[in-house]
Amino acid sequence: RAKANGRNNYAFYTQSLTLASVEHLKLQSALHDAISKDAFYLVYQPKLALGTGQCVGFEALLRWEDPQLGLISPAVFIPVAENIGLINEIGLWVLKQAAAQGASWLAEGKTFGRISVNVAGPQLQQKQFFTQVKQVLDETGLPPEYLELEVTESCMMSDPLAVIEVLKQLGELGVELSVDDFGTGYSSLNYLKRLPIHKLKIDQSFIRDIPRDGNNTAIAKAVIALGHALNLCIIAEGVETPQQAAFLEAAGCDQAQGYLYSKPRVVDELDEFLG
Ligand code: C2E
Ligand code: MG
Ligand code: MG
Ligand code: MG
Repeated sequence: RAKANGRNNYAFYTQSLTLASVEHLKLQSALHDAISKDAFYLVYQPKLALGTGQCVGFEALLRWEDPQLGLISPAVFIPVAENIGLINEIGLWVLKQAAAQGASWLAEGKTFGRISVNVAGPQLQQKQFFTQVKQVLDETGLPPEYLELEVTESCMMSDPLAVIEVLKQLGELGVELSVDDFGTGYSSLNYLKRLPIHKLKIDQSFIRDIPRDGNNTAIAKAVIALGHALNLCIIAEGVETPQQAAFLEAAGCDQAQGYLYSKPRVVDELDEFLG
C-alpha cells in the first residue's frame, strides 16, 4: 500500500513536472510573438514626494496579455525573456514606448516629473546600450532629464567596469539612474560607492510591516542614512499604509511609491497625477 501510494505520488509528480514544462514552452513561444502581435502594453505607477505629496514621476511597468495564456506577471515572463535572449528586444520596446509617452505628455503641456523604465542586466551589457538610449531620446524628442533608468544590483555581477562606464555616459547625458530592489541583490558597498547613480529604491520586502517589524524598521532607517550620506535620493517601494508613509516621512525618506497612492494604471487613468 505504501508502495502504491509512493508510485501514485511519483506519477503525479512527473505529470505535473511535464505540465509545467509544457506551460513553459507555450510561454516561450508566445513570448517570441508578443511584440509583433501587440500583446504588450505599459502601465504607470506614480511616485510621490513624501511631505508635499506631489507626484514626482511614474514608473513604467510592462504587462503581457496573451490571448490563450491570459495576463502573465512580469515577475514570471521577464526572467524567461532573459533566458531565451528576448530581453533586449523587449526592453527596447518598453524604452521606446515610455519615452514616446513622456514626449507626448510634454507636447500636451502635462507635467509628470520623470518617467522611469526598468532595465535588465543583459541590456546594460550590450555594447550599444548607450547609443540605443540616445537614439530613442532623439527619435521621440524626450529630453534626457525626463528619463530615469532603474537597474538592479545584480547588473554588476558580470563586467562591472563596463556597466559603470555605460551608466556614467548615461548620467552625463542627463538621465537619472536608480538602483531598484536595493538590499536584495549581491552587490557590495564597494560597488555602491563606484556606481554613478542618483537614487536608491528600498525594496518592498523591507517596507512590509514597518514600523511594527523591528528588523525592517532598522534596515529602512539604515538605508535612508546610508543613501543620504552618499548624497542619494531615497524612495520606498510597496508603501501600502498611512503608518508606513508616516514612519518613512519622519525617517527622512524622500519619496514613496505603492498601493497607498495608486496601483499601476493605464495612461487614460493617470489624469489626477498629471500636472
Ligand atoms: P519592480 O521594478 O520592483 O516594480 C515594482 C513592483 O511592485 C511592480 O510589480 C508593482 O506593481 C508592485 N507594487 C507597487 N506598489 C506595490 C504595493 O504597494 N504593494 C505590492 N505588493 N506591490 C506593489 P509588477 O508590475 O508585477 O512588476 C514586477 C517586476 O517585474 C518589477 O519589479 C520589475 O523587476 C519587473 N518588470 C516589470 N516591468 C519591467 C520592464 O519593462 N522591464 C524589466 N526589465 N523588468 C520589468
Ligand atoms: Mg522598478
Ligand atoms: Mg523594485
Ligand atoms: Mg521588485
